[in-house]
Amino acid sequence: IKIKVTKIDAPVGVSSAFEGERIRKNDMYAEFGGQKTKAWELVRMKDISEVEDHKIEVIGPDIDTADKIPYNMPFAVVVDVAGRSMETDFEPVLERRLHYFMNYIEGVMHIGQRNIAWIRIGKEAFEKGFRLKHIGEVIYAKMRDDFDSVVDKCQITIYTDADMVAKLEKEVALPRYATRDERLASLLDENVDTFYSCALCQSFAPSHVCIVTPERLGLCGAVSWLDAKATKELDPTGAVQPVPKTGVEDERLGIWSEVSKAVETSSQGAVSRVSLYSILEDPMTSCGCFECICGIVPEANGVVIVNREFGDVTPVGMTFGELASMTGGGVQTPGFMGHGRHFIGSKKFMSAEGGLARIVWMPKELKEDVRDRLNIAAKELYNIDNFADMICDETISTESEGLLEFLEEKGHPALSLDPIM
Ligand code: SF4
Ligand code: ZN
Repeated sequence: IKIKVTKIDAPVGVSSAFEGERIRKNDMYAEFGGQKTKAWELVRMKDISEVEDHKIEVIGPDIDTADKIPYNMPFAVVVDVAGRSMETDFEPVLERRLHYFMNYIEGVMHIGQRNIAWIRIGKEAFEKGFRLKHIGEVIYAKMRDDFDSVVDKCQITIYTDADMVAKLEKEVALPRYATRDERLASLLDENVDTFYSCALCQSFAPSHVCIVTPERLGLCGAVSWLDAKATKELDPTGAVQPVPKTGVEDERLGIWSEVSKAVETSSQGAVSRVSLYSILEDPMTSCGCFECICGIVPEANGVVIVNREFGDVTPVGMTFGELASMTGGGVQTPGFMGHGRHFIGSKKFMSAEGGLARIVWMPKELKEDVRDRLNIAAKELYNIDNFADMICDETISTESEGLLEFLEEKGHPALSLDPIM
């Protein structure tokens, strides 16, 4: 029997209306994380017999023990969930929701995730009687409400004792995060028989469909294959649907007849053939919320990638905004494609055209963000060390002449690949 939790036991408002609320330094009563203390969060699947539903415990001092304001405390929240349809693969999906749940609280601000969480509680919330157990109450209610199809029982423990927070981080949280990362990294398109289609963005790009695979996440960056799998489980008739990976037409381009058929149906016939690994032949469409855009620079025999946050012009002579206006809208634009940041370290990244070795330019911030994964992938694919250092950025040049000079100096692999077009 499922219980819907509608009333939340908290002295402040809890609603998505408070999501964008900031808590400034002067309004802050307590702060966890943000480089001053440890702060981490974990959702953990447990056996049904190990979880006591609605048990909320605070181990360590509460915020009312403050001797100075703002009170900087260590913090950890462990959310134990159990349910017949729960799977360990759903843990990160539920865990990422903690960010939203905490931001829904009036007078609470949450940034980050895992062990880089950063939480602020405002003075006003404290004065209204808000204490740590209320964080637990909100998480409990939201977990039961939003994930009622998989969470039958939920128990929450909050730690503020410095030794416990440090000890459990090392013994419980970090190993759990590592296991998940290994699981994600070991998931290959070859090893699954189902991809997922996501049509969530059709409200503003009616013919757009993302195909999400283990090695290619949704272009918004928010929907990994595991997320899609969990979303489908949580909302079986929703915007995310399974697509059987059958009817292989071209393995190199990544074309399966069932995938194309799913896109055709979901796009109401607007797009009838889609490749997953090519930017030139029947590439996936883009809606508007891509984290990055990749576009061909013919003279460099490769592509530039630019992220949304970068405001200046790129070596293709266009800014992100200008590229976005020609890439988005749910149409196929050979030579340009929107994608998630995480796709940059994927071995499937335009693998039909030579893969990651085609990347010749990225904004520096993006390059640093993806550096480690990119270097590992390039080492495995091409036996190149420190590939990221061969990629040009805006501090070196944003003109095609300077770009080419740099690529030649570095012996960039794109220069010796077949002509891209
Ligand atoms: Fe779904 Fe993200 Fe693709 Fe939109 S961009 S359709 S939300 S995966
Ligand atoms: Zn979108």
